Amino acid sequence: MHPGSVEAEQPRCPVDGIVMRDITDGWECPACGTRIDLVPPHPQLPEFDGPALPNS
Ligand SMILES: [Zn+2]
Repeated sequence: MHPGSVEAEQPRCPVDGIVMRDITDGWECPACGTRIDLVPPHPQLPEFDGPALPNS
């Protein structure tokens, strides 16, 4: 119910619920120091250097 709120896109600390602040690679809680790291948009797939998966 707060159109235009900038904090809507900020994650909150899972420990104390405080709105986290931006850091270089994610967010950090200003209260307890808990960090959330940004996840790469295209994570590397594991390399298959062995036989096929047993459940494939
Ligand atoms: Zn916190």
